[in-house]
Amino acid sequence: MADVKMSRFIAEVPIEKDGVNFIAAFHTMTTSLIVVPEAVWATIRNDPGRAQAEIVEALLQQGVLHRTATDEDAILAAYKQQIVHDFSVIKTKTLITRLCNNACSYCIVNPESSSMTHETALAVDRFCFELARKKRPRQVEDLYSGGEALLSPSILLESASRRYNYYTGWGIQYGFSIITNGTLITPEIASRLKEVGLSSLRVSIAGPASVHDSLRPLKDTDRNGGKSYDLILKNLEAIPGAEIPIFVQTQYDSSSDDYLLVPKMMDDFKQRGIAVYNVAFTPIMARRDETIYTGMTGDPAKLLFLMKEAEKRGYRQFHSPPANACMADIRSRITFDTDGSIIACASLQSGEMVYGHVTKGFDFVAESQLLPRKFPERCITACALLPRCWGGCRLNALARGEDFNGIDCQAEALWLILEEHIKQQALAALPSGNASMEREVA
Ligand code: SF4
Ligand code: SF4
Repeated sequence: MADVKMSRFIAEVPIEKDGVNFIAAFHTMTTSLIVVPEAVWATIRNDPGRAQAEIVEALLQQGVLHRTATDEDAILAAYKQQIVHDFSVIKTKTLITRLCNNACSYCIVNPESSSMTHETALAVDRFCFELARKKRPRQVEDLYSGGEALLSPSILLESASRRYNYYTGWGIQYGFSIITNGTLITPEIASRLKEVGLSSLRVSIAGPASVHDSLRPLKDTDRNGGKSYDLILKNLEAIPGAEIPIFVQTQYDSSSDDYLLVPKMMDDFKQRGIAVYNVAFTPIMARRDETIYTGMTGDPAKLLFLMKEAEKRGYRQFHSPPANACMADIRSRITFDTDGSIIACASLQSGEMVYGHVTKGFDFVAESQLLPRKFPERCITACALLPRCWGGCRLNALARGEDFNGIDCQAEALWLILEEHIKQQALAALPSGNASMEREVA
């Protein structure tokens, strides 16, 4: 079987188990993982036609090998189109208000005072229902955010109830999350939201008190001396985490050593019995105007350190391969601004990159201009990460003075995380002792 070639979307990681050296090979598009002894991999890699027929057959099925005539550009293009136009799961983000009671020093957007009215919230929900009626999704996942979403609790509750009743009435799997700074959440609000589909709370905490309170002070300096950390942790202590999973989102300044203090925040959760389900980390992004946070991603080893510290404390980090796609690339990911505009990203100012309105529908011309990205040659021909990355966050490109279709390459960080994921999955898949070839093709 000589007419085979290796896919270009393979990430290879050497691993060792029970004194035997293996190669774990992961396909970044199909997410298939194979683990074979090093010598076998050398044959597959250098001259796949010489590998055993049953191995070649298995690798063809997994997409690791292709027939020589296969056009992998065509596969990539079809795969991307499937993602872009797939409406089986619709995910929306609704900016309930742009008001915020915090004064975070790294907030990416300038403060604005607009809030969603009851009429606009109803129009947004009707737009969502009409879309679901046309597209027949299997599942809808909504996210309410701000500003601080809990500054508009009645709009939030009203909209969430409407959506819950509509989607569950139609047999659509439904749940929603809120992103909050955690200063206003109470067990009463949480339990009322839980009754209408709240599936998780996403709370932004930037580290232990010494770090968090300087990065994320309260706007009202008379309240608690402007300090929010203890207030948030007390609020979270009262939330029944077993019923409502709490996800903490931590942004760290990659140009400072403060990230070394972040494990203390996770220790605090444990000591205070706060049932945090998981913690995610992202570096603070530069604002588009004046910014003191120019570190951007910084050294990816800092991110890896934080992820490993989280994992030590039971917060799973590497269970899925990294994905870096931008919501603005996918038609079924929709963001509504407070005035009912459909905008490309929740971290833009009002009126920016608008491609529709709930009363008029999508502006297909504007939407079509958003979808394409300007991939450099290295992404298209030389990077196995493309099916997981798709060019990354457009805002970072914008912050660098490029445009919204630009590329934000986080290759180093993505590789580190992907390698760790592959290692963990491969070691878990390999049986102990000297495995037979059949069992090694995991
Ligand atoms: S531009 Fe960045 S922040 Fe905005 S949707 Fe895309 S990835 Fe998310
Ligand atoms: S942006 Fe970077 S990580 Fe993403 S596909 Fe291009 S080269 Fe790869």
